[in-house]
Amino acid sequence: LFITFEGIEKCGKTTQSRLLYEKLLSLGEEVAYFKDPGVTKVGENFRDILLYGKNISVETEVLLFAACRAQLVNECIIPALKEDKIIICDRFSDSTFAYQGYGRNVNLSFLENLDKYATKGLKPDVTFLFDFSFFEAKERVLDSKDRMETESVDFHNRVRIGYLMLASMEPDRFCILHPKLSKEKLHEIILKKVLERKT
Ligand code: C5P
Ligand code: MG
Repeated sequence: LFITFEGIEKCGKTTQSRLLYEKLLSLGEEVAYFKDPGVTKVGENFRDILLYGKNISVETEVLLFAACRAQLVNECIIPALKEDKIIICDRFSDSTFAYQGYGRNVNLSFLENLDKYATKGLKPDVTFLFDFSFFEAKERVLDSKDRMETESVDFHNRVRIGYLMLASMEPDRFCILHPKLSKEKLHEIILKKVLERKT
């Protein structure tokens, strides 16, 4: 079972994905936790360039995110799937479609092809999308050095709408959540959904 968490910055993805991970572990499940971009050496190095680099072109951005994902899939996700683990990943392909596709207007069918190449066609079974407007998210403290987090309100609105478009195209895969619900309630909804899908 491959589960991903998506949404704009500071919406609670990381908190909820960690909570789910710990809960599943405590239930005796075999679980692996990953983050995209990140985890692998390539992922960590490129993440640093992507977030804090100067004058990164859109083309570079697209290719580096794809490279991070390719490495994560090969080095971590495929092996974990072979061990029949439940995989939880903080962001995955949908981030590319939402941020680089809808946010930066990169051609979506090009991104889909590139992503298919990077992921070997691997797709999540369940995706939790935290739908949050940038104004709500802004109440939370953003990382002022992360160039994506300092993008315009317009940009973040396009990303949000992009995510909602993606969810509307695959309603069976997506589960849309409102981050204003309590942490406990969100966790309950997420866990219920995962346990349903597992059986
Ligand atoms: O949420 P996380 O801290 O992992 O995301 C890292 C940063 O990269 C965020 O600011 C996010 O907006 C950005 N990002 C992006 N395009 C992606 C994935 C993440 O711009 N495909
Ligand atoms: Mg961030």
